[in-house]
Amino acid sequence: MKLRFIFLLFTALISCEKRESNWIDRSKHEGLFKQELTDEFEVYASLEEPKNINNSILLLDTSKKYFDNVFSENLKFAVLFIDSENWDKYAFSPPPGMPQAYYQGNMVLGLGKSVIALNAENGIKNAPEPVHKLLKKHFGEDIDLDLFYRDALSLHELGHLYQFYRTGKYSQRKWLNELFGNLCQVGAARSLDSEMVFNRMDVLQSVMSKGKQWDNLKFKTLSQFENDYFTIMQAGQNYGWYQTQFFFRAKKLHELFGDTILNQFRNFLMETSPEVAGELDDETLQKLIRERFGNDFFEIVQWDYH
Ligand SMILES: [Zn+2]
Repeated sequence: MKLRFIFLLFTALISCEKRESNWIDRSKHEGLFKQELTDEFEVYASLEEPKNINNSILLLDTSKKYFDNVFSENLKFAVLFIDSENWDKYAFSPPPGMPQAYYQGNMVLGLGKSVIALNAENGIKNAPEPVHKLLKKHFGEDIDLDLFYRDALSLHELGHLYQFYRTGKYSQRKWLNELFGNLCQVGAARSLDSEMVFNRMDVLQSVMSKGKQWDNLKFKTLSQFENDYFTIMQAGQNYGWYQTQFFFRAKKLHELFGDTILNQFRNFLMETSPEVAGELDDETLQKLIRERFGNDFFEIVQWDYH
């Protein structure tokens, strides 16, 4: 019996080791230039000498330590900095500069001025003067929104990698994934010594939620988010609106439950993965959320489902 246990333990250790080293999809690194900028994770770029990525790397270095601690992992992953011209070759979705996490160990971030930041910067040009003043305070005289769209959101994507490492590409609901991504984003930003990164997320999304650009959105419910996900993602405005809803809910959850909620939520995603739990209908899923996390949690995340 004892021998059998040791054998099983040994096999489990080997398969764990195998999963760790095999999980990064290296076919996505073809044609990219490897950068030696940190020992914490691998970095590649579509330009030989990329500029202005040190700040992102520093932020991810610190956040990796936070996530490793919160999730009891030592996650291996790679960050790919891709310029707009090469975006479609390496990222799985437009627009160029939209941070994304692949299922297998890779995160894609924009390089140079990303199209998504540029569009947002153009969008706020007509905003009232007090809004400009506020944004300048957090994003500098030139209002550089890559500080949000690349640097701040990279924490969100890194959170997804910790999720995918355990769940693979399977998930019960996309909205649960995105709520989790935002919870990771909030937790990691709040763990930093300075409040600067968190304030950038908070201020920009508060400003956007008061603007007129979201007055006539086509999709607003969670079931639409599930069923029309790719249409919503491609219509960037509507996707931005959903993300902001998730962000403010994640902020409340983190205020109430602190860092422990991150690991509890990831465990929930693993347990309710369709591979493990099968396909759950809305009613069953809501019951499970309420049972696991209680009424306060449920009241914050509940939303018009239909
Ligand atoms: Zn996400």
